[in-house]
Amino acid sequence: MISKRASEFTSFIVMDVMAEAEALERKGEHIIHMEVGEPDFPTPKAVIDAAIAALKNNKTRYTHALGLLELRQAVCDYYRREYGVSITPDQVLISTGTSPVLLFAMLAILDPGNEVIVSNPRYPCYQNFIGAAGGKLKEIQTYPEEGFQYRHKDIAKKISRRTKGIIINSPCNPTGIVMSKEHLQDIARFDAPYIISDEIYHGLVYGDKAHSILEFTDRAFVINGFSKLYAMTGWRLGYLIFPKKFSAVMQRIHQNFMISANGFIQWAGIAALTKTKTDVKAMIRTYDERRRYMLARLTEMGFVIHVEPTGAFYVFADGRKFFTDSYKEAFRITEKAKVGVTPGIDFGSGGEGFLRFSYATSLENIKEGLNRLERYLKKRK
Ligand code: PMP
Repeated sequence: MISKRASEFTSFIVMDVMAEAEALERKGEHIIHMEVGEPDFPTPKAVIDAAIAALKNNKTRYTHALGLLELRQAVCDYYRREYGVSITPDQVLISTGTSPVLLFAMLAILDPGNEVIVSNPRYPCYQNFIGAAGGKLKEIQTYPEEGFQYRHKDIAKKISRRTKGIIINSPCNPTGIVMSKEHLQDIARFDAPYIISDEIYHGLVYGDKAHSILEFTDRAFVINGFSKLYAMTGWRLGYLIFPKKFSAVMQRIHQNFMISANGFIQWAGIAALTKTKTDVKAMIRTYDERRRYMLARLTEMGFVIHVEPTGAFYVFADGRKFFTDSYKEAFRITEKAKVGVTPGIDFGSGGEGFLRFSYATSLENIKEGLNRLERYLKKRK
């Protein structure tokens, strides 16, 4: 028998769309992938060189359960440099991606029946990390005209003694919206024990710089990693920054469940944080060019972009003029227009009627993909 908990895990629909697109490709179809949230750039050379050097130097053993001290120190230096905040290596856990640290953060703070506030729409995996740790989701509806951002009064209404945390994600997947300093300050003032801030898209911004929640409170669990900014999804490397008093428990959790993150890859992580400035700058310039093109084309076609996205690499476009069922439509677009897109419903009921387009693919692909989509929509009418 499958456990009740496991049977309640929701699926990650974008993966189903991707599987469908790949099945079409196996039949010989040419598909443009705008569904995937994965950088198309190669990992910067300095990172690859550091991994090779680490392998040649036999850095192939377990490390400290919290991670290599040198990498944890590099994370502290990075947060000081970028945000002016002061954290120490005993507040950092390195793991194989941000996904596992999200789970470990939930295991560290949730007791059965505890609630975590999340927005609707949101990154679809959050609910499952919460559920796996025995917690409950407390959803807050957000609105397209406001960039799907929390309203103060809605949080005030939902917060209770059962609330253990509020999840924020800026720059946001799926909306690409970057939270303002004032908004972060406002969230930090709420009487919830912890703010869980998913900062994995930090650095990928095309307007004002994103602020870290740590600038406003130390009651925070910060999730960050290497997948997006350094084009390192397949390396599986991420980290968690937590309040000092969790140091021993985080170490215990990681010792038991992972022992440690991959040794040589942690050495490569140091290079990512310290030697990739030029590569990152070039990637951001290219993403921004694609972002502008995509925004203009989607708007021309009749999609509505309520608030301009200035972060991550997504456009969350309102397609209610064309369809109501985003799930059906995303599969239809994949099959008929040969363009992979993510249905808004993947991110919760608040995303219904929307599609998420990723511009983590070449401008050439984006042009061709949007041409195909335009032809499809014209025929559809
Ligand atoms: N948070 C958000 C908002 C994401 O979009 C992703 C990746 N899609 C993750 C966390 C997990 O990233 P990873 O495990 O590759 O570090």
